[in-house]
Amino acid sequence: MPDDAHPRDGDASTPERSDAADAAPATDGGAAVGDAEWDAAAERGAVVGESTGGRGVGDPDGDVVLRLADVVKRYGSETAVSGLDLTVREGELVTLLGPSGCGKTTTLRMIAGLEAPTEGTIAVGDDVVAGDGAVTPPEERDVGLVFQEFALFPHLTVAENVAFGLEEPDSPDADRRVETLLELVGLAEYGDRSPADLSGGQRQRVALARSLAPEPDVLLLDEPFSNLDVSLRVRMREEVKRILEEAGVTAVSVTHDQEEALSLSDRVAVVNDGRIEQVGEPGEVFEHPTSRFVASFLGQASFLSARIGEGGVETVVGSYDRDLLKGLGDGYVGSRVDVLVRPDDLRATPVAEGDADGEVVRRQYTGPSFVYHVRLHDGTVLCCLHNHTEEFEVGEPVAVTLVADHALAWYPAA
Ligand code: ATP
Repeated sequence: MPDDAHPRDGDASTPERSDAADAAPATDGGAAVGDAEWDAAAERGAVVGESTGGRGVGDPDGDVVLRLADVVKRYGSETAVSGLDLTVREGELVTLLGPSGCGKTTTLRMIAGLEAPTEGTIAVGDDVVAGDGAVTPPEERDVGLVFQEFALFPHLTVAENVAFGLEEPDSPDADRRVETLLELVGLAEYGDRSPADLSGGQRQRVALARSLAPEPDVLLLDEPFSNLDVSLRVRMREEVKRILEEAGVTAVSVTHDQEEALSLSDRVAVVNDGRIEQVGEPGEVFEHPTSRFVASFLGQASFLSARIGEGGVETVVGSYDRDLLKGLGDGYVGSRVDVLVRPDDLRATPVAEGDADGEVVRRQYTGPSFVYHVRLHDGTVLCCLHNHTEEFEVGEPVAVTLVADHALAWYPAA
């Protein structure tokens, strides 16, 4: 297989990688974006952070509000963050998403000034706040932080809590500013209440209003929904998204919840082992993950072995047109690849044993749907999404069909 065909699977080791991913214009290469394409994009001047859609995203000329360059954080022999690059433009909400211990919170704390990077540079607007010998203390950075536990003062009213965030809480304009902020978060009537008399969602909105009060250049949200119950979490995501959009604030949030990251963010930065493995719009990282790690972390993912033949793509569950694979150019005939398939790309059909591709080995009931895990004769396990009315038994022989109506990402055979 030609080198430029290789997706960058497993190669998250260079700083250029996250830069390049950051800079990636929508390509027709899908997961198979070659180095040549990155170079071409760079030559065209595709800048870090370029993207489309969302709030002010897609404006490559938009001001860079936050930039992390080759940031490293070590605690003794432990490396929590290992060469992280990220650029955030004005008005964007970027979410750092990754498994526990990958370095998300440490990164957020370094942006806030609660930790100093061991190496690298952090700039907020034109100010280098860490690196180059400079370390600006947290209170001198134009950065707001919303804590997981909201951290409201119990002895102050809601309005007083919000006013606490103002630089001059006793100024004549302070009352008006507090009123505006309470209106923004939908709590105009709650100014005199005690935080203790509010629901979890309302407390979160007060915390947000307080953090927005000093009009920070960047707002940081540390697992902002983790203290809310599941149904409230979904509602608050929408609400927080609206508030941040209306406030026009640039924000960075941290979560390990894929759904939250995908639904809330303008761009998602997937963090693995202390560095960003891919950054892009939610649809881009979900549909065209540049590595198996990103593919697997963003949702149920299986990898179907395929051979590129003269006439099409041959798999153990049938032959398909070459268009099935995103960005598959000429010159791949005879190559083996692994195709990323998600449950909604596949269907299982009960058949006689002799016609089966494999058997159901697990049923996952989610309420509206079943996900059937099917072990193929070659040992590969694929997940197939079905309506809850389609009930198959574990052990049932089934044929598996690829029903994806979009091109799929692929990787060089493992
Ligand atoms: P989680 O989602 O569980 O909060 P995370 O991605 O936010 O995880 P971090 O809290 O940034 O991860 O931690 C990254 C690594 O750095 C972990 O291995 C952690 O144990 C280590 N670490 C973090 N803070 C310290 C510290 N103060 N001293 C030593 N090691 C630390």
